[in-house]
Amino acid sequence: MPLADLNKTELEALLSGLGEPKYRVRQVYEWLNKGARPEEMSSLPAKLREELARIPYGGVEIERKFVSGQDGTVKYLFRLADENLVEGVLMRYHYGNTLCLSTQVGCAMGCKFCASTLEGCVRNLSVGELLGQIHAVERDEPAKEPGHRTVTNLVLMGSGEPLDNYDNVVAFLNRVTAQDGLRISPRNISVSTCGIVPKIDAFFKDAPHVTLSISLHAHDDETRTSLMPINKVYPIGEVIAAAKRYADQTGRRVVFEYALIGGVNSSLSDADSLSARLRGILCHVNLIPLNPVPERGLSGVSRTEAERFCQRLAERNISATIRREMGTDIEGACGQLRRRILHEIRSENGNR
Ligand code: SAH
Repeated sequence: MPLADLNKTELEALLSGLGEPKYRVRQVYEWLNKGARPEEMSSLPAKLREELARIPYGGVEIERKFVSGQDGTVKYLFRLADENLVEGVLMRYHYGNTLCLSTQVGCAMGCKFCASTLEGCVRNLSVGELLGQIHAVERDEPAKEPGHRTVTNLVLMGSGEPLDNYDNVVAFLNRVTAQDGLRISPRNISVSTCGIVPKIDAFFKDAPHVTLSISLHAHDDETRTSLMPINKVYPIGEVIAAAKRYADQTGRRVVFEYALIGGVNSSLSDADSLSARLRGILCHVNLIPLNPVPERGLSGVSRTEAERFCQRLAERNISATIRREMGTDIEGACGQLRRRILHEIRSENGNR
């Protein structure tokens, strides 16, 4: 197994196999929690560094990086050891920096407005590749003050369906929040799902303190199924009931994501029906201006229409905000950058 993927028990086994004393486990684990490469593990004897350097590292490297001239948002294209590419986005807010990270190469869910899923799911990301995205960003942009982190908040909203890579995502969240891990507060972490109901039920036992976001995008089965094929397996009523169980059992507000799509789900009567469905649930609606994906032929709505929709929800006592668009000049939307670069690489190869 690559070094970046080892948990503490596996690291213990590795180091004891190399004849190392027990106290080395903590030392190496601390280095791995910073994403350090063996040659940088300066507190270790040279011989051990050399032995560790013989093991494949895993994790991620930065393939390309784009900085928005508008708001300083950074879009990263990460390269995995097998040459696959995934995206991450670093967004700057007054309270800190949020990293949006990917959980799979591609995605199997087939949502009609999403660029990440156009070529299906290639594979799950490992724990080391999930952690590696944070490490890569923090190595690229170290925190200004010692003891602080560059990445203070995480959203699992890049490419992939987190609950379709369940075990790795839960292990990652445990490591990220642990006192002997990265020590990021679970309250600063959001996990977004298209609504895999049995996994939502398991998730609030395995990760009760993170915020759960559910991509709803419609208030009725017919529209939701036309946008999100997963709705055929877990219809909207079951998804909302699971969200309610999550809110009731954790005492945490569930966030519903709702992309406003012109002529599909964005009229005022849609806002009324949505409010009726969500009544009585501890929740917040995050309205997302659709990032048009040319391959999909779906369009967004104007700012005024989005504001009217938001206002109507408020009048019906449903808490709602419109998500700020960030980094639109650098293809902030999921999957778009990876697709363009893959096309470029393929056509470069084709032209050789
Ligand atoms: N698979 C997870 C997380 C990844 S997508 C999920 O479905 O929630 C993160 C969010 O971006 C989801 O709400 C998704 O529906 C939304 N999204 C995807 N493509 C989009 C687009 N073109 N415009 C606006 N939002 C989009």
